[in-house]
Amino acid sequence: MDGDSHAWLWDTPQFLKGIGPKKARELQSRGVVDVYDLLNFLPRGYRDYRAVLSLSEAMDGVEASFRVRVVTPPKRAYRRRFYRAEVEDDSGLAELVWFSNKLYGPSADLQPGQQIWIVGKPSKRRTVMSFSHPRIFSDMSRVDIEPMYRGIPWLSGGLRKAVKELGKRLQAADPLPAELRDAWQVPDWRAAFTQVHAPGTNDPLEDVYAFRSNGYRRVAADAFFSWFLGMGMRRRSMQRVETRPIQVGDDIVDQLRAALPFALTGDQQAALDAILQDMNQSTPMFRLVQGDVGSGKTAVALLAAAVAARAGGQVALLAPTEILAGQHARFFDEVLGGMGIRITRLTGSLSAIRRKEVLHMIRSGAVDIVIGTHALLQDAVEFQDLRLVVIDEEQRYGVMQRSALRSKGGAPHTLLLSATPIPRSLSLVLLGDTDVTVIREKPAGRAPVETRIIPEDGKREVLEHIKTELDAGHKVFFLYPRVDDQPDSDQASVVEMHQRLADYFGADQVGLLHGRMAGDEKDRMLRSLKDGRISILVTTTVIEVGVDVPDATILVIGHPDNFGLSQLHQIRGRIGRGNLPGTCYLLVDDGTGDDALARLDVMTQTNDGFEIAEADLELRGPGSMLGTRQSGIPDIHPVLLRRFSDLATEVRASAEAILDEDPHLTAPQWRRVREILQRKWDMSAEA
Ligand code: ADP
Ligand code: MG
Repeated sequence: MDGDSHAWLWDTPQFLKGIGPKKARELQSRGVVDVYDLLNFLPRGYRDYRAVLSLSEAMDGVEASFRVRVVTPPKRAYRRRFYRAEVEDDSGLAELVWFSNKLYGPSADLQPGQQIWIVGKPSKRRTVMSFSHPRIFSDMSRVDIEPMYRGIPWLSGGLRKAVKELGKRLQAADPLPAELRDAWQVPDWRAAFTQVHAPGTNDPLEDVYAFRSNGYRRVAADAFFSWFLGMGMRRRSMQRVETRPIQVGDDIVDQLRAALPFALTGDQQAALDAILQDMNQSTPMFRLVQGDVGSGKTAVALLAAAVAARAGGQVALLAPTEILAGQHARFFDEVLGGMGIRITRLTGSLSAIRRKEVLHMIRSGAVDIVIGTHALLQDAVEFQDLRLVVIDEEQRYGVMQRSALRSKGGAPHTLLLSATPIPRSLSLVLLGDTDVTVIREKPAGRAPVETRIIPEDGKREVLEHIKTELDAGHKVFFLYPRVDDQPDSDQASVVEMHQRLADYFGADQVGLLHGRMAGDEKDRMLRSLKDGRISILVTTTVIEVGVDVPDATILVIGHPDNFGLSQLHQIRGRIGRGNLPGTCYLLVDDGTGDDALARLDVMTQTNDGFEIAEADLELRGPGSMLGTRQSGIPDIHPVLLRRFSDLATEVRASAEAILDEDPHLTAPQWRRVREILQRKWDMSAEA
């Protein structure tokens, strides 16, 4: 960590004060591998503690902060396993309690007469307000505003400290030269990350709280910059690459299209036309088809794949889950199998013998379309003549994985499918007019999905509705956030719900599906539902993306406030896929707060993915897109992109000018930019 080198950016956060190996591991499990990731782990919102109340104003159950004097420091209650202290201010008295055998941190050091701030949610015990496990600060001026991070409470203080500790080093490591910062009107790294992670009263707090401040503008600018540099490098390298055009006669396209069980919508046809035209060029296609859940992207991919196969090439289709790979393989086989197109599946759950066979078939050209999961990316998978790569739900993949697949062919065409809502105006700026197709129009005859919030005492009504739907031969999903019961949680798990529903509806009607089951078992379970051997499936978010059961009409989501709105929207996409009207029930627990209810209410108001993303940002914060680095759009919440879209044109022009002069960014001043592109975007493989 010498002053000159910026290697610390790529170090584990473990070297920062207060972050030991354990916390570093926790961060890693959330996709935060190095300090750069940590800095870009955005808050989901902020808390403002500046409004300090007096104890007489304390309200039962309402979190607030108070400035108090210690009357009696914590004492262990006689033979009991808790500590109790007394504090006062000019308006009254309160007690603090800790249910534990030992005190840690500032509470262990409290002295009589000491002035402290406490933050907590009091509850009225007899006549006195009682705070259990309050947070204690000796100097509130440093923590009056606090960012909150999804799933990692200690980061509120942790990142503030990290930003302070890094201080000047952040300034020195800023990859963006001052001229560009001035031109784009964005602050340097130190100022930006301080404003995002450690805002103070000098900052425009309203803007900070709304993710609209210059700190966020800088984060967006960085994402745009990486994006446009990457795009520019890719375009420059693609223009050098030659590939063989894929072409078949119109009669063959007509014949393939006729094999589908439905007619394409206008938007699907337009997407297909664009793809066929791209594939018929001698530079490789790189096209993103973006469409909301249920808009029918699979059919477009199927036709593109069939055309490539008909032209004598091989196709690889990558899907994020085993379930989805199985579903696609069956759909492709149903439609194309009869026409002599050979389809096979390659997933992690194949037996060793079968896997060897499949690998051999792929290598020898005995199969045309391979549909698989991550297993497709392994080195052992070699194609005879890979001409087209299709990546479904591409927002789930990193750039690295995407290019791993592409490198298996000479220079295959690439088709990306995504449900991430990017507004058309922005996709034009980001991708240019030619590389993105948006499917807006849903297939005709789609009945709407109604979403309703149901309190605990409303369950009976839901069960009645389910019975009616089951009688009509329709299917039902129950989705719960966790697999097992956890001792510290009163939330039902899928295992428990499966038991209860099996008791109620009959064991042979109700199936269970979750991520800990073996791959082929999962696949079998989903098939049982599709085929009607069972009619109710109790499941987790393993079915979040892609799963298609057109006659499922009811989706019940338990503990819905565990999910983000965009995630709920994805999940809700499991129903309303056919022409039957659907109902999505959000079963809220009695204790659910007003904030959470207001957030969930958005789901009842709109079915538009973009509106939901916008509301999600406002209500929950941009969180972090880490771990879901997107190859089809910049690595940042789409709503931040739109908010700062005024940057796009200018940043793109700068990126192009830089690349014109220095196509591989070899000049010393771009060293860190190059590092970021290589490490976080795997651009070395692109260039
Ligand atoms: P997504 O865009 O979310 O991947 P899918 O491709 O899975 O959506 O399509 C959703 C459902 O709509 C599927 O059941 C599919 O068979 C059906 N579908 C797709 N296109 C059409 C169409 N043109 N007409 C009728 N149904 C369609
Ligand atoms: Mg899909």
